[in-house]
Order: sequence, then structure tokens, then C-alpha cells
Amino acid sequence: MIERLCIVGVGLIGGSLARALREAGAVGEIVGASRNAEHLQRAVDLGVIDRFDTDIAAAVRGADIVFLSVPLGAMRKVFELIKGSLAGDAVVTDGGSAKACVVTDVEAVWGEVPAWFVPGHPIAGTERSGVEASFADLYRGKRVILTPTASTAAEALQRVRAMWQATGAVVKEMEVRHHDEVLAATSHLPHVLAFTLVESLARMSEQREIFEYAAGGFRDFTRIASSDPVMWRDICLANRDAVVAMVEHFSNDLDALTQAMRQRDADAILKIFADAKAARDAFAG
Ligand code: NAP
Repeated sequence: MIERLCIVGVGLIGGSLARALREAGAVGEIVGASRNAEHLQRAVDLGVIDRFDTDIAAAVRGADIVFLSVPLGAMRKVFELIKGSLAGDAVVTDGGSAKACVVTDVEAVWGEVPAWFVPGHPIAGTERSGVEASFADLYRGKRVILTPTASTAAEALQRVRAMWQATGAVVKEMEVRHHDEVLAATSHLPHVLAFTLVESLARMSEQREIFEYAAGGFRDFTRIASSDPVMWRDICLANRDAVVAMVEHFSNDLDALTQAMRQRDADAILKIFADAKAARDAFAG
């Protein structure tokens, strides 16, 4: 049972955590914090948080768990703001989509990774943002990856693990660098491709016709291009090395397919598509 939870950034990820913990009866009071009082008042009106403070340092006082769910580019600023205001036994964790950058931010602010900091990332989301998009079941049956460092205290890790388990999530642990490489491949590259495809088509002179005749396949493939641009800019910069490596890898494979088409190499094209279908069917099944 968490007596007081402070959520900094009450949007899709933070709001859904609040809703899930409340529904599970796993939390006493939930305090929200961010930059905008109107957004936070909306979260109170929706019953997601109990009260709020736009003074982030004041909001974290007395909380036993502090969860940061702001864009990656805002993490360091929030760490600077809460330094000196945390309760003695507080555990701090986050939901950022890349982990090495968050650990670097914590080190920059505290001079080390404190034992009470537990980096984390729920592998769940939608293309929608803000507290209105949040829902209690977002994490049910989904994975949450925790990436403790050598200095993370076992007790802090256990408290964060228990918090996520109360939402119905399955908690896994991973090394920070490994997390960032895996997510660059499975999440960050697909978002980069979707954004680039839609932006590229939107710039073509026939764009009205292109979008008019776009069917279900286009809709499926490009859904994630409706995701928040600020969040994804931050992810691409924060996990730049791993994302660039994946884009280059993919680009080489796209070149190979293009070459096969130029050469009318039907066997090579068929092999790529058949291997892809087998892999996708196995994954989806
Ligand atoms: P979101 O719905 O846009 O919510 C972000 C929240 O952060 C907003 O409530 C915003 O509130 C607040 N915020 C933004 N800048 C801030 C700042 N400088 N200081 C304080 N608060 C600030 O975004 P989200 O989808 O929940 O994503 C939050 C985090 O979760 C990100 O780090 C993202 O990488 C990670 N994540 C996202 C997904 C996903 O699918 N969306 C999945 C897993 C992890 P105000 O406007 O009121 O300040």
C-alpha cells in the first residue's frame, strides 16, 4: 500500500498509473504536479488525482513514491526541482521511454545514482496524450521493464515492482543499455518510419489524393504517426546512438529490396516478403 504517491506529469502514462492503483486499492492519496494548473484541475475533476501543486518541489514533499512521467527532455529539470524536497524514505521512479539518458540526468543532479532511484519503462501506451487519454487498464497484462543500476537498493526496487504489479503489469528487469537497444528496434524505429512516411507523403503535390484513397493498411501502418511530436523528438535525441544504428541497419535492408526490384529479382523479393510474413504471423499468433 502506497500512502502518498506523487505523479509529476499527469498525462497518458502518469494518469493511467493513478487510475490503475486507485482501482486496485493500492494507494491512499495521489498528488499531481506539472506546469499547467488547468491540466491538473482536469485530472482532479476526472478523479485521477486528489490534489495538485504546480510547485513541483512542494508536490513531492511527504510522498513515499514519486513517479516521473514527463517527456524525456524535461526529466533533468524536474530532478533539479525535487532535489532537497524528498521525504527521507521516498523512492523515486520514472516511466521514460529510454533509460540511459534518465540515469545520466539523475547522476548529473545528485552526483551519483542514489539507492532510492529505480529507472523504469512501461511497455504500454497509445498514440494519444494527456490525462483524458488515460485509463485504468492500460498496464493490465503488459510488461514493465525496470532497469536498476548497481547502486539501486533492493528495497526500493521491490517497492516499485509491487506498485507496477498492483496495476496488473508483468515486471521484468533489464540492464539499462540493453533496454535502450531493444526499444530502439521494437518501438523507436517503427515510430521514426511512421512519422517519416506520413511527412514524406504529406509533402507530395498529390497528397490530397494520396490520403483520400488511403485504405486500412495505410491507417494501420501510420497510426503511431499521430503520437506526440515533442515526446518522440525527445526519445530520438535521448536514445540517439541506438536509434541511428537501427535506422542505418534498416536503410541497408531497404536498399537491398530496392536493388532487387530494380533487377527484377523476383526470388529475392519473394524471400524478403515470405520471411517477413512468417515472422509477423509467429509474433501475432
Ligand atoms: P503526456 O500524455 O503528454 O503527458 C506528459 C505530462 O508531462 C503532461 O501531463 C504535461 O503536463 C507534463 N509535462 C510536460 N513537460 C513538463 C515539464 N517541463 N515539467 C513538468 N511537467 C511537464 O505524455 P505520456 O504519453 O504520458 O508520456 C510521459 C512519459 O512516458 C514520457 O517520458 C514518455 O517517453 C513515456 N512513455 C510514453 C508512452 C506512450 O506510449 N505515450 C509509453 C511508455 C512510456 P503539463 O502540460 O500540465 O505540464
